[in-house]
Amino acid sequence: VARNPQEPEFHQAVKEILASLLPILAAEPKYQDQAILERLVEPERLITFRVPWTDDHGKVRVNRGYRVQFNSSIGPYKGGLRFHPSVNASIIKFLGFEQIFKNALTGQHIGGGKGGSDFDPKDKSDGEIMRFAQSFMTELQNYIGPDEDVPAGDIGVGAREIGYLFGQYKRIRGGYPAGVLTGKGILYGGSQARTEATGYGAVYFVNEMLKENHLSLQGSRIIVSGSGNVAIYAMQKAEQLGAKVVACSDSAGYIYDENGIHINTVRRLKEVERKRISEYVKEHPQAVYFQNSTQIWRIPCDIALPCATQNEIDEVMARTLIANGVKAVGEGANMPSTIEAIHLFQEAGVLFAPAKAANAGGVAVSALEMAQNSMRLSWSFAEVDAKLHEIMGNIYRQSMDAAQQYGQPGNLLVGANIAGFRIVAEAMLAEGVI
Ligand code: NDP
Repeated sequence: VARNPQEPEFHQAVKEILASLLPILAAEPKYQDQAILERLVEPERLITFRVPWTDDHGKVRVNRGYRVQFNSSIGPYKGGLRFHPSVNASIIKFLGFEQIFKNALTGQHIGGGKGGSDFDPKDKSDGEIMRFAQSFMTELQNYIGPDEDVPAGDIGVGAREIGYLFGQYKRIRGGYPAGVLTGKGILYGGSQARTEATGYGAVYFVNEMLKENHLSLQGSRIIVSGSGNVAIYAMQKAEQLGAKVVACSDSAGYIYDENGIHINTVRRLKEVERKRISEYVKEHPQAVYFQNSTQIWRIPCDIALPCATQNEIDEVMARTLIANGVKAVGEGANMPSTIEAIHLFQEAGVLFAPAKAANAGGVAVSALEMAQNSMRLSWSFAEVDAKLHEIMGNIYRQSMDAAQQYGQPGNLLVGANIAGFRIVAEAMLAEGVI
């Protein structure tokens, strides 16, 4: 804390992991002898830089760019870029730290990184987004590359932004460096199913967890927060597997549609027209719109899938969900539940799928995109989806097995943290004190 003052999100992420590692640390003194934890919490590198750009009125604006290269013990740094006004060093470090363990869980050779900017893409023209992205990449390109560090999207960074970022990297560095970014459009080196991967993967993971507990998505009532990339495809897959999604949100408010949300309307409004979720009720008058997105958890549901942002389920909302009979919570977003909320779910016997495991499908398919780029091949949607399904099943199994082995059977939070940690820690030991 003294070394990283005023970084509450980073402290929260570290605290959550350290608490669950106690059983493995007690069993394996070598990790403490070799200061694995002390090394893990210190990023290999944190880069910050100025991002000047010109808005449509000719006014020069300045944002701050970040890239944290947290840990490269098992592969090149890998993790998304977030463009959101709330971005600061604490947020980037929490995301980068989580990414180390998540990436290890996927079974692929990718290290942990994250980046972004406090730039707000909302209400910006395409031209402004492009000029910002070009300026951002003009500096970032010094630090990334297909074998060094491979960014992707996150909040506020979707296909449009990745396209502009890739174009600028290519222009500066030359050649066709397809593997430098993932989440690219299909036309220029992207992977089938990358757009769907995080949301689909989260639902595959939750489905495994439900099955093991003799529950099913079929006929269940689901609430999904957010209406961005992760939320949309979590809704789509949940519906395909027989669930009814009754509510979703954006940062301004949420919609409730008792008949089941029309996901294609949400997709069009958000992906194509870039409008607010409130517009949904104009097309579907039976639905209701409420301001204040944080209150979405007041709607009774069987399964809650927080897919918007960090700390969206606090103690109060966790108690509300439990009182309303929630059976399972699956984290599509990164750290959407506070530590207190997680404890409440676990005490109440609510099945809990932690972000690190449940939302790893996005980065897993990003690694498959890198593999396809290296081989100059493109796999079909069905092939990538089948691999994603298998990877999510493996992550579930590994997490359950680690939880069992370290005396916390069924505790996926502890299991995922230990399983991811063990891979990275062993690689760090093998590579010596660096
Ligand atoms: P998007 O930008 O596509 O969507 C984010 C959604 O969450 C939007 O509906 C947005 O509303 C809402 N939101 C954002 N910030 C807030 C806030 N402070 N309060 C309330 N709502 C908010 O991002 P993604 O779907 O890609 O990411 C969502 C989450 O999933 C993040 O935690 C991200 O780190 C995580 N994640 C994403 C992966 C991916 O592959 N994209 C992979 C793994 C994790 P509005 O439009 O109003 O801003």
